[in-house]
Amino acid sequence: MDDAPGYGNTGGTIGHELTHAFDDEGRQFDAKGNLKDWWTKKDGKEFTERAACIVDQYAKYTVVDDVKINSKLTLGEDVADLGGLILGWMAWKTQMASMPQQAQQLRDGLTPEQRFFVGYAQWACENDRPENLRVTAVTDPHSPGKYRVNGVVINMPEFEKAFACKPGQPMAAVKRCRVW
Ligand SMILES: [Zn+2]
Repeated sequence: MDDAPGYGNTGGTIGHELTHAFDDEGRQFDAKGNLKDWWTKKDGKEFTERAACIVDQYAKYTVVDDVKINSKLTLGEDVADLGGLILGWMAWKTQMASMPQQAQQLRDGLTPEQRFFVGYAQWACENDRPENLRVTAVTDPHSPGKYRVNGVVINMPEFEKAFACKPGQPMAAVKRCRVW
């Protein structure tokens, strides 16, 4: 594969792990790994407000039947997913600046920007039994794969542009969240 799906997939994962240092849990530890509040009051307040946008967004997603995502449980992972894919995008765009030919190439009928997002989505291919979804809804700090993709990309204007989403369509955001 070319760079686009690689940066969307593995780049997004590397970005995800880095962002954990600055999610709702990681941010409570200092550079030496000690539990210590080292943030300014202003930054802490801003973080909490931005994170609340993610909590509200994911709380609306249905896992199975009448079970919704416990978005306070999944917050750290959801913040890491969004921050991670933004980092993957930035790294990819930086790399593409020195590869102008690949940066414009269509493959399989997809633009590089579309391939970036398709590559990201492919790690989350899964098919869970409803019983398992019920268990993971209360025990797993990760949101179901579907929302770890759709919930992330709907917050990125880059996605809306890549797939020419029109206002009113399901993947066109009404309100976007951004933490990092
Ligand atoms: Zn994680």
